[in-house]
Amino acid sequence: MSIAGDCAQAVEPLLRELVGFDTTSRNSNMALIRHVEAYLASNGIASHLVVNEDGSKANLFATIGPNVEGGVVLSGHTDVVPVDDQDWLSDPFTLTTKDDRLVGRGTADMKGFIAVCLAYVPLFLAAKLTRPIHFAFTYDEEVGCLGIQQMLPYLREHCAAPRLVVVGEPTSMQVAAAHKGQHVSRTRITGREAHSSRPEDGVNAVMVAAELITLISGFAAREREAGVKDAAFDPPYTSFNVGPIRGGSMFNIIPNACEFDWEFRPVPGTDAQAILDEYQRYIDETLVPRMQAVGGKECGVANEVWAYLPPLKAEPGSDAETLAMMLAGKNETTVVAFGTEGGHFQSIDFPAVVCGPGDIAQAHKPDEFITQAELAACGKFMERLARALSA
Ligand SMILES: [Zn+2]
Repeated sequence: MSIAGDCAQAVEPLLRELVGFDTTSRNSNMALIRHVEAYLASNGIASHLVVNEDGSKANLFATIGPNVEGGVVLSGHTDVVPVDDQDWLSDPFTLTTKDDRLVGRGTADMKGFIAVCLAYVPLFLAAKLTRPIHFAFTYDEEVGCLGIQQMLPYLREHCAAPRLVVVGEPTSMQVAAAHKGQHVSRTRITGREAHSSRPEDGVNAVMVAAELITLISGFAAREREAGVKDAAFDPPYTSFNVGPIRGGSMFNIIPNACEFDWEFRPVPGTDAQAILDEYQRYIDETLVPRMQAVGGKECGVANEVWAYLPPLKAEPGSDAETLAMMLAGKNETTVVAFGTEGGHFQSIDFPAVVCGPGDIAQAHKPDEFITQAELAACGKFMERLARALSA
């Protein structure tokens, strides 16, 4: 059989091994990373691990071929979302086959892609690459892209500038050139408690929250009407949402604490920092002086951005997009509604697209699956990649 045929046969057993590691984001991913490292070592490929502070999690970076410019980075996250409270027909961490489907947590999002990357290593080695294929496998993507943020300085220093980064999130092998960003914040308000009959004695934290939420509603209306528009997205503007809000105990007590979570999803080209700055200015210049005049120094408002995903901006006609379409066998690009690590790569000038096997509709769901046909299409992508980088 051909090398490519052997590689295709190796995908399913590799995926079975990867799914067998319960890498739910709250767990360590080290066992999986060590397993991948050993597999690459058995093929003569050295891995570099970028380990988190307490040593419980790691990103893995490896290069096949010469570490020169013009290579392609294959990027995947090793963590998966929890299966808690989900009704699975089979054990989520045991790969189960059903007709054309391979069922298990992470099969679509996105261990299927990683399994294909690993399965095609023998083909990459046989191809006599003149430009490199890099693997960048991360931790904690599902909980705010923490791993990739830790890995960026390493990549900037050690990965020769690539032509393209392929983020293998499930797109059914479409080439997605863009997605919105995401900023998630928590705002905490500290007021001063008093009897509700004496408003002059208290600082009502819930009412301050209401002012900030009104401000956010104003941002939403402004972006919808006059902000950056991109018809590729639905909706085509930067959207805002206020989620859970907690505060107050009784109707007759002026509440001294309130907190709420809010997010916005900037269309590429939107100045997200300017929006956050405007929010902070309103807090510093309008709210806090007024609150402290009544309640003293302990009154205040703190906003913390606890998850941040830069948008992925399309670069129509670029070498990277042209190459990605050729590898995927497509003649157009699309956009995706979900965020990925792609924007982080773009932030260090690594051109990136999102393209991987499986359907995002399966991701994060019980009985998550990927089809053999999707894995085979991803295999064809790897064959074209090996040819493209050895020419
Ligand atoms: Zn994912």
